[in-house]
Amino acid sequence: MNDVKTEGLSFRQSVNHMVDRALTALGIDPGLARAIKTCNSVLQVSFPVRIRGKIEVFKGWRAVHSIHRLPAKGGIRYDLKVCQDEVEALASLMTYKCAIVDVPFGGSKGGLHIDPRQYDRDELELITRRFARELARRGFLSPATNVPAPDLGTGQREMAWILDTYKTLHPEDINYVACVTGKPVAQGGIKGRVEATGRGVQLGLREFFRYPEDVKAAGLDGGLADKRIVVQGLGNVGYHAAKFLQEEDGARIVAIIERDGALVDDNGLSVEQVRQYMNETGGLKGFPGATFVEDGAAVLEKACDILLPAALEGVIHTGNAARIQAKVVAEAANGPVTYEADEILRSRGIVIIPDAYLNAGGVVVSYFEWIRNIHHMRFGRMERRFDEVRGQHVVSALEMMTGEKAPDWMRGELVRGADESDLVYSGLDDTMRLALQDIRAVRGIADGRHDYRTAAYMVAVQKIARSYADLGVSV
Ligand code: NAD
Repeated sequence: MNDVKTEGLSFRQSVNHMVDRALTALGIDPGLARAIKTCNSVLQVSFPVRIRGKIEVFKGWRAVHSIHRLPAKGGIRYDLKVCQDEVEALASLMTYKCAIVDVPFGGSKGGLHIDPRQYDRDELELITRRFARELARRGFLSPATNVPAPDLGTGQREMAWILDTYKTLHPEDINYVACVTGKPVAQGGIKGRVEATGRGVQLGLREFFRYPEDVKAAGLDGGLADKRIVVQGLGNVGYHAAKFLQEEDGARIVAIIERDGALVDDNGLSVEQVRQYMNETGGLKGFPGATFVEDGAAVLEKACDILLPAALEGVIHTGNAARIQAKVVAEAANGPVTYEADEILRSRGIVIIPDAYLNAGGVVVSYFEWIRNIHHMRFGRMERRFDEVRGQHVVSALEMMTGEKAPDWMRGELVRGADESDLVYSGLDDTMRLALQDIRAVRGIADGRHDYRTAAYMVAVQKIARSYADLGVSV
């Protein structure tokens, strides 16, 4: 099997070892611990597609880690590193992630062994539709039991094709639109889903910086303004996280690492300009006004306040962990730090804000989208006008009582009803704040006995164990 190696351990073993720390700290019964960690089922499919006159065979997987809540939820990834071990690891991360942010889903993940850049749009549509048929026919795609979303190498477009394929197979399913999340808004998607994971990373970091004692323990002070950030991966998650942190929090993006190398500028790079350049040229090389470094991975070791890996797993390993100079590693990607590297970073006092918490924004907004779909109505539709009229009454009452005209800003704030984007943002912000507060509570706030990752897994494992206790292990 083409396992993703994260040191001596596979990715799945690496995640399991990290979860073991939480299971041990909680004193969970070894049998129950095994049940929690075990992947419930894995589907492997191989299917032929005729491409440019030749038949090509594609291999894909969908793993369901846990069904203690249904549907099981998790992205579909298109990448040449996809293998069974990787999807199992990512599916387990989804179980813990959903539990940490209180999203009532089980964990799943899928992947296709493919380099999507080698195929044009029509070919990718053929391949995706065929993969979706394989998943649906075997019960691994359905609004009630298994709901994919975008991940590395996939986006709204692929989700729309999957949705349409499912609809063709199950036109009688009134909830067919809820069979995937991360769809285009015109196809039942929700505003704010595209940027949700990056937005969640920003909101998670903001919450971290609300606790001066935690910030001090990381060797930093103040807020996010002017913090030096190194970002790896300017795709969906990395681009949005870096853009929001730069434009809204005043952070300084001092390096961006992509496939072909890295751009470095201690005065700060414009995320928007770099992304535009990348869209036009396909890479970072040649971007004006910044230093280009061919060995992108070496730039992970650049001195900075926050290192934000947002591309792949296993990029911080025993080979570079001792040289990482960031004060905080903010895991925007899934599994960017191996189990062994995690130990090294922690022993050096580097704070890791773990993936299972920090990149959960995507699944949180996917949950809102799924609810919107089975509700068959967009959020805010019933109450927006009502809220506006009530706001108008409040303004009129204030003006009557004071005898003065309300300032425009006050009128604007009070008279505006929330639309779907406002509600999604507010729900995501609330979720990211509460989840970090739960994690901090478990850490034993004052003495920080547990690292954030162990504490996050403790939060998750407690909830999952409670499910098993309430429902029995044969659910
Ligand atoms: P994406 O495909 O949109 O972006 C990935 C980016 O990383 C691309 O720009 C790619 O060129 C770059 N990249 C690839 N290999 C690289 C390398 N060796 N060095 C530097 N850059 C490299 O994918 P995404 O959706 O942004 O996902 C990124 C990570 O975030 C993955 O680990 C994924 O599992 C995780 N994640 C994504 C979501 C989501 O909603 N999309 C949610 C949670 C977690």
